[in-house]
Amino acid sequence: MEVIPVSKIKYNDFWLDMLRLDLIHQPVGGNKFYKLKFNLEEAAKTRKQTLITFGGAFSNHIHAVAVAGKEAGFETIGIIRGEDDPQNPTLIHARENGMQLHFISRSAYRLKETKDFIEKLKNNFGDFYLIPEGGTNELAVKGCAEILNEIEENYDFIFLPVGTGGTIAGIISTPNIKSKIIGISVLKGDDQLTSSISKLITSENKNWEINFDYHFGGYAKYNEQLIEFIRQFYSDYQIMLDPVYSGKMMYAVFDLIRNKKISASSKILAIHTGGTQGIAGWEYRFGKIIL
Ligand SMILES: *Cc1c(COP(=O)(O)O)cnc(C)c1O
Repeated sequence: MEVIPVSKIKYNDFWLDMLRLDLIHQPVGGNKFYKLKFNLEEAAKTRKQTLITFGGAFSNHIHAVAVAGKEAGFETIGIIRGEDDPQNPTLIHARENGMQLHFISRSAYRLKETKDFIEKLKNNFGDFYLIPEGGTNELAVKGCAEILNEIEENYDFIFLPVGTGGTIAGIISTPNIKSKIIGISVLKGDDQLTSSISKLITSENKNWEINFDYHFGGYAKYNEQLIEFIRQFYSDYQIMLDPVYSGKMMYAVFDLIRNKKISASSKILAIHTGGTQGIAGWEYRFGKIIL
């Protein structure tokens, strides 16, 4: 296994560690590498030749499945919400990696997990291994339970961004973990997220919570303050955060420290989950982040 680098970050008088999933296992990298690992093994074991998955047009997950699937010798098919855009960097890259893209309307996309829809996919594409949207399933949780394998330091708090919750479910399930785990939701709060994470956890650990205060209006929503924070962070530490996940998470960590919600003597680990592939797509839509 590749050892995951840790960066030391100084904020005021406060030191914290950042676990750099963004730097490992390139070109897939980030938490998506861990989410896919056992899924790819299972697909190979069951002799599937094709992977099918779903996602939005700028999705890190689509990118990861295209790249990791190709590397592992699978055909890949992406069912994408909305319309094709030949200039979208994520889609360009997925196609370059051999992913076949199919575009469906938002209303059809909502029904993507129904039996009828899956049946249609089988009729169209034959036998395949299905990876859910965002890649979250039991095998993804098993993979993410390996992220902290090499960490020996005892942290009081571990922070990470949360989308579907598969990654944090794995972190919470890490054997013998003592740290309090705090997930920063990048989506507007809903009770369903907390309960679906509870269902995915494979240990008895209850020492975790989801914070819903830093979604900036919802998934992929942002304001000038967030973008300014990402710019400043890059200029101070030369670490690129993405605006959808790790940017919001680090903003939250600094804000909690500044407002003394976390005591200055605590030991903190923040997990940079990757996602920097999405920056090209972000800048394509909204303009340059780093000027
Ligand atoms: C997908 C993703 C997440 C969210 O992971 P979940 O398992 O869906 O909670 C966080 N950060 C990055 C960079 C991602 O690409």
